[in-house]
Amino acid sequence: MKTLNLGESDPRFISEVEQRSGQKISRCYQCGACTGRCPNTFAYDLPVNRVMRLIQLGRREEVLSCSAIWLCAACQACAVQCPNEIDVTRVMETCRQMSAEAGLVSERAIQVFVKSFLGSVKRNGRAFEPGLMAGYMFRTGRFFTDVDLAPVMLAKRKLAFKPHKAGNGEVADIFRRYEEEGPVSCNLESDHA
Ligand code: SF4
Ligand code: SF4
Repeated sequence: MKTLNLGESDPRFISEVEQRSGQKISRCYQCGACTGRCPNTFAYDLPVNRVMRLIQLGRREEVLSCSAIWLCAACQACAVQCPNEIDVTRVMETCRQMSAEAGLVSERAIQVFVKSFLGSVKRNGRAFEPGLMAGYMFRTGRFFTDVDLAPVMLAKRKLAFKPHKAGNGEVADIFRRYEEEGPVSCNLESDHA
């Protein structure tokens, strides 16, 4: 079993994640219900209840550099299951934001995909899949990633040849506000204090 050196812990980490997510992570008592319901546990390097525990312990780098936070599908199964009403999905999302900001994304391919995805949404108002995949392939050199799926998606009309550009002004405004003002901090309810 791995032994943790608590001297490397950052006691500010839990309050930062709590403030940004609006969730009282210190309430987690490690029942494991979130992990039991998570459909992606098989692929995670850290099960979601362990992510919660490591946040409590202030293990900033271990949490922000794990791949689990990027593999989370935001399905909410953990959140509805938590007996302490912690929105675990929101905690995972917050960790993704903090990971990207701190430059701790576990794999370059993930970082490139996230940047390509956000760039596509910012330009077009929603993801333009062919442009997104072209950017991702070009930057990673993975030229044949999922290329076999293209004919199937075209046949099912799931791929467009042109970006939709619907609502791109409003979406660009959201990006601008985020870049100018930073992420919205959430006030924890007073009974969480
Ligand atoms: S939201 Fe993420 S962590 Fe929670 S159950 Fe779904 S995939 Fe797992
Ligand atoms: S379900 Fe809630 S209390 Fe249980 S381990 Fe997950 S976050 Fe903690």
